[in-house]
Parts: sequence; C-alpha cells; structure tokens
Amino acid sequence: MDLGPAVVGGWSVEGGFLTSGARAPVTPAELAAVSAALAGRPPADVLAWAARRFPGRVVFATGFGAEGCVLIDVIARHLLPIDLVTVDTGLLFDETYALWRRLEERYGVVIQAVRPEQTVHQQAQAHGDRLWERDPDRCCALRKLSPLKALLAGREAWVTAIRREQTQLRAQASVIEVEPLHGLVKVNPLLGWTSAEVAAHVRAHDVPVNPLHERGYPSIGCAPCTSPVAPGEDPRAGRWRGREKTECGLHARRPSLPAQPGLAADMEAGAP
Ligand code: SF4
Repeated sequence: MDLGPAVVGGWSVEGGFLTSGARAPVTPAELAAVSAALAGRPPADVLAWAARRFPGRVVFATGFGAEGCVLIDVIARHLLPIDLVTVDTGLLFDETYALWRRLEERYGVVIQAVRPEQTVHQQAQAHGDRLWERDPDRCCALRKLSPLKALLAGREAWVTAIRREQTQLRAQASVIEVEPLHGLVKVNPLLGWTSAEVAAHVRAHDVPVNPLHERGYPSIGCAPCTSPVAPGEDPRAGRWRGREKTECGLHARRPSLPAQPGLAADMEAGAP
C-alpha cells in the first residue's frame, strides 16, 4: 500500500480506512494497516498522519535525548500542530534544563512542563531521602509515571522518540500501535532509525542536543540515576547502573494486544 503523498497531503487513502470529513473511530485494523504503510517512511510523514488523524489531541513527550531533539526539529520545521511537553522530575541535569531553553529559543516553541505532585524535598519528607537509591521503581512512579498520566489525559495520540535498537522491549514496538496502559495510539516515528541516522540528522540540521552526549552520556535521564558509559558499553548501561531496571516504565508493553470488539470505543474514551 502506498501512503506517500496521501499521508502528508490529505486524508483520503486508497483502501478506504482513512476518510476525509468526520473522524471515524480508531480500529485495530486501521492501526495495523497504517503502521505497515508508514514503516520506513520519513518521521515527518508519520507525524503528519498523527496530526491529521487526531487534530488537537496529539502530544510529544520529550525527555530531551538526541532523538527527542530531532523530533522537535521535525515538528517545528514542518509546523505540525503537535503539543510539546516534558516531565520535569526536578532532578534533571543542569545541561538538560539549559537545552530545554535553547530548543524553545531556536524553534520559537513552548515545551510545557508537567511536574510531580511533590517537590524533591516533599518526597524526601514523605518517603525518605534519596528514594531513587532505595526504591527507584517507586521514585519513577511518583516523579515520572504519575505526571505522565496527567500529561496524557485528554489526548488521543502520544508521540515518542523510541528506537528499536535501544532495548529489547522497544524492539517489539510498531510505528503506530495501541498503547494499552493509557488507552492511546502511540506514534513512534523514529522506531527504525539507527543512532547513526539520528547523529546525521543532528549534523545536517544543526539541531541543539545535550552537551553531555559528548562526555560519555548517550542516554540521559535524571541526574542521580544516570552515569557515563565506557566505550563499547550498551548506550543505556548508564541508566540505573548496577540494577536490573532498564526502563522507567513510560514505555511498558503488554505481551500482545488482542483485537477486541469495543477497543475503538475504549480508545476514544481514553480508557486505560
Ligand atoms: S530516574 Fe531516578 S530520580 Fe528520576 S524518577 Fe526515576 S528513580 Fe527517580
């Protein structure tokens, strides 16, 4: 199926699963077909499809990794109506906060912050100091997952910057897929990109990225849970070093998603 110009330039797609005019409910069959058709397409095409399919209800939640900066560049240069948001845990590197401001200035965009209910100090009072050292899953639940839930409320599509080669979990993803935990459509425009392709895009478009990448931090999260990696190490080896934990839970997956009757209605309602 060729979704070429039709994806970017209009709604009508041969085969009839997208229609112009009134929006039709999302169905698993539609997502599977669109995902297959968009696999390998440029990120701008994938993002344009999402912006057209879910007008006003698409959000990109960035963690300011190089991939996220690339997507901000694409969204801004193509003037795509996609909201830019980040979860500010209050524990990011100074360099990350500086990058946040730099991206806003460079592209003339606002990257909104969603924050945990408790400040770091309040969390220490409620759960003890340095919770990330004793119970990082709990800390991530409080400082990342709970704000993310608020961030995604009322949305229909969630753009992410994950790539297949990053983790075994992410290798199972599709370009367009159901995100069952939050009842959304998840859009992964960079899924098939290699780290070399990301670096090439950064160079070609002079995209601002975190200077910590040059200091041995290929993957950057909260400062207390991120360390530099040695040459040859897995790029994410510096995240929660010494623990089995490899994900904060933002991109958790269920083993499979059966095509259920009623799924479309659930997704329209934003049900988990
Ligand atoms: S990455 Fe570390 S500091 Fe940040 S929320 Fe998770 S456990 Fe807490």
